[in-house]
Amino acid sequence: MNDSRGPAPIASHDAVLARVKATIRPKIRALKAYPVAKATGMIKLDAMENPYGLSGEARAEIAAAVANARINRYPDGPGDEVKGALRRSLKLADDVALVLGNGSDEILQMLTAAVAKPGAVVLAPEPSFVLYRMQADLANLRFVGVPLRADLSLDVEAMLAAIERNRPALVWLAYPNNPTGTLFATQDVDRIIAATPGLVAVDEAYYAFADATYLPRVLEFPNLVVVRTLSKVGMAGVRLGYAAGHPAWIAELDKVRPPYNINTLTQAVVPVLLRHADLLAEQAAAIRRERARMASALGALRRVTVFASHANFLLVRVPDAAHWFNTLKDAGILVKNVDGWHPLLAGCLRITIGTPAENNAVLEALSRYA
Ligand code: PMP
Repeated sequence: MNDSRGPAPIASHDAVLARVKATIRPKIRALKAYPVAKATGMIKLDAMENPYGLSGEARAEIAAAVANARINRYPDGPGDEVKGALRRSLKLADDVALVLGNGSDEILQMLTAAVAKPGAVVLAPEPSFVLYRMQADLANLRFVGVPLRADLSLDVEAMLAAIERNRPALVWLAYPNNPTGTLFATQDVDRIIAATPGLVAVDEAYYAFADATYLPRVLEFPNLVVVRTLSKVGMAGVRLGYAAGHPAWIAELDKVRPPYNINTLTQAVVPVLLRHADLLAEQAAAIRRERARMASALGALRRVTVFASHANFLLVRVPDAAHWFNTLKDAGILVKNVDGWHPLLAGCLRITIGTPAENNAVLEALSRYA
């Protein structure tokens, strides 16, 4: 740098804004970035994480794996060691193929990009995971949301009619659903897969807390992939998701995948964590027990409706969502206020199941309404 030339000129704010406006698609400019609330120092019950830590033994094994990771090199592109560890852990049949994502968020993005023919339609029930719509917007596709029934079950006739009308390239079914916790009926899901001309992605982010899965049936249909993540079972920080399906579908997704999408540290740590699957399964069982306890305790509060949940959170309808949200926040507890996300979620909070002590703190803070 030659200081005698003085500071480099800076383009005016207005000039930059004009170029942004002229260059970035209006649909993207109208979007809001996915909001992630800051939760430092709070009891964090807003993002469906596993609240439990790891054993000392697992942590020591992770430390050793990370210490030996060759971070001067690019990671293995396809992540074959991680895939092998997943296959063993899931007891996956040899003829089912896998592709890995940087969280299942990236799998969602890859699936959407892969089907993005001009004019293609992405369809999902609503309310459901907001990224299905957002990814369709980003890929310039038309998104069709089909409202659930008032009891948050799947309106299968409305879904079938919308599929017939819109001929979607991609249908999303979160199984169980977020943010409702609902598990759609198997016969309804089967009918939707059969009626869809394109691909159906059954998103099993919450599989560990439900007693149903499409993974063993993934090859039964010509148009099904199962999407999963390790995020909800204790590994949200490592960012690993995957899609399982027929090799012909997975091969196409692999072309959309960024070449080194799973970083070296994640690839080093995931096989270690999967060796501790027993511990993670015990934690999931504890979360399910706590879910039942919280459902009955919250349901006993006056004017509170608790929706049946097959996931690691509860959707509750309360008399004044903003007030209840702030009451919890004042008590140092962060939950998700989903009131306003969709008409069917009016007055609703989504509360992730925490440790027994964290859950007691929720009940304590809300006890004044009992
Ligand atoms: N699918 C569903 C239904 C979800 O609720 C979430 C997380 N909220 C994801 C996918 C994405 O999870 P991740 O990117 O952590 O794998």
